[in-house]
This record gives sequence, structure tokens and C-alpha cells, in this order.
Amino acid sequence: MDGMITEIERFALNDGPGIRTTIFFKGCDMRCAWCHNPETIHGGRDLHDYARNCIRCYKCVYACPSKAHKRIDGEHRFFPNLCIKCGKCAQVCYAGAMVMSGERMTVESVMAQVVQDKPYYDDSRGGVTLSGGEVLCQQAFAMAITDACHAQGIRVGLETNLNKPFDDIAPLLSKADLIMCDLKLMDSEAHRKWTGTGNETVLDNLRRLDSLNVPYIVRTPVVPGATDSDENIAAIAAFLKPCRNLTYYELLNFNPLGQPKYESLSLPNAFAGVKPLPKARMQELLALAREAGIQARADA
Ligand code: SF4
Ligand code: SF4
Repeated sequence: MDGMITEIERFALNDGPGIRTTIFFKGCDMRCAWCHNPETIHGGRDLHDYARNCIRCYKCVYACPSKAHKRIDGEHRFFPNLCIKCGKCAQVCYAGAMVMSGERMTVESVMAQVVQDKPYYDDSRGGVTLSGGEVLCQQAFAMAITDACHAQGIRVGLETNLNKPFDDIAPLLSKADLIMCDLKLMDSEAHRKWTGTGNETVLDNLRRLDSLNVPYIVRTPVVPGATDSDENIAAIAAFLKPCRNLTYYELLNFNPLGQPKYESLSLPNAFAGVKPLPKARMQELLALAREAGIQARADA
């Protein structure tokens, strides 16, 4: 069994409780305009071109079987239309100008990295987080990693958009030790505008999540001009009020760190130059959420 992974991040502190290893799955069925991991959207391999890092060593010119790299007038030029995404240029580009995202990994090769930090998980009540991209787009692989972790006594958290029918995803969700899911917008048309899909499936899943008896955290990425209205946050908090196994609701301030990745992948970036919300505004929204009578927190 193998799957497509962009990165395995050890000693992660922000993807669930304790010290964790986060495994980033590649491929997503939503198109959130503010995504800060745009390299995880597409299910196949992607080549980043960080041209500013180029030191003109021209190793890529010799490594590329498709002649997608050329030396022209003493400059490095990259022709993405010729690229077959073999990754050979990235292997020789020590300057970090060409970087490949996406590697097929077996469960065994993932676990070989995961088990190295087991003492840290045990000491901190941490574990492994399956993230993305969207874990539910590679469900069989996620299930196999979850089973392999449990066989080693390692707890597993799932980060998910919950955008698949409940009966299809319940077997995986019910194996998790913690579910971290997003609810971005209560208005379905706005949800469609900003993520490419309506929110009906997500809301239906959230209504049914309690039946699994797995603790879960619901999070809203607070994105200026998209999800940050009083109405949206108050409506989400009211929706979550009856959720019995909800550990807490969390407001996550807009994360601009993915902006260079858009440029490197030649992707349009609807939030170029946008800054996170001021702390005071995050606190206002947090107070609004708490008014609904739910446990809530904010990351800034
Ligand atoms: S290998 Fe990297 S640093 Fe060297 S010329 Fe190619 S892109 Fe530039
Ligand atoms: S990924 Fe392969 S085909 Fe594409 S530019 Fe690099 S070496 Fe050439």
C-alpha cells in the first residue's frame, strides 16, 4: 500500500496535542482561495520554481531528460511546458531553486520515520497527525497508516475538511483518536464561492460526528474579507452548540506563509499581500463565539 505525500514534519507542535509527526497528504477536493499549502491541492507531483534562489550552477541543464532547463545568454531559463516532473533537476539543485512536491511512499517507509519519535509522543501525549491536502482523498492509505500507528501504540489525529459522505468516511473517522475538522462558512453559496463546493456535506457530517464517540475540534480559518464576519462566526458557534463531543472550537488567524509557494507554482493567489487580522479583532470574534455558550479559543 502506498500513497502520495508532500512532507513528513517531525516535532510539529501545532497540529494537535503534544509533540507530533505530521504527514501531509497530497490532493484535495476543495479549492480554498486562501490555502497556505497550495502544493498539496493537486494529487500528482508538482515542481516549484524558486527562481530567486538560483545560483546559475546549470546542474539542472545536464540532469533534465526533457531539456526543460536551458542556459541562455548566461542565465538559467526554465520551460515548464517541457517538464515531465521526473524530479531529477530538484535532486541536483542544492540551491533550493527547483523543489519537487509529492513522493509516493509506502506505509512501511512512512512508519520508519514515525516510530523514531515514539518516546517523545509518549512523554508529551502527542502522536501522529494525518493532514494535507485532504486525507479523505487517500482514505485506504490513511486507514493503513492509522492501523500501523495503533499497532505501535501511537495515537492518531486526523485533519480533514469532512467533505465526503458520512457512510464512506465513518470507518476511518471512528478509528481516529482525535478529529480536527474545518467549518469555514455557514452560508453555502459563500462556501462555494471561496472553496469551490457547497457546505451541505460538511454540515451533515458535523451533525453526525457525535455518534462516533471520537473527540473532535472544529476550526475556522479566519480570512480577511472571506470568513471573518461577525455573522459567520456567530452562526458557526450556534451550529456547534449541540455538539456533545466537541472538545473546543478554534479560530485560526489567516496564514500568509504560503504566498511564495503560489509564485513558485505559477498559481494565481487571491490573497497576495493580505495580512493576518489584528489580535484585537480575533479577540472580538472569540468573544462572539463564546457568547453562544461553547468552549472556544483563538490562535492569536
Ligand atoms: S540547478 Fe538550481 S541553482 Fe543550478 S542552475 Fe539549475 S535551478 Fe539554478
Ligand atoms: S522535473 Fe524532470 S523533466 Fe521537469 S524540469 Fe526537472 S528534470 Fe526536467
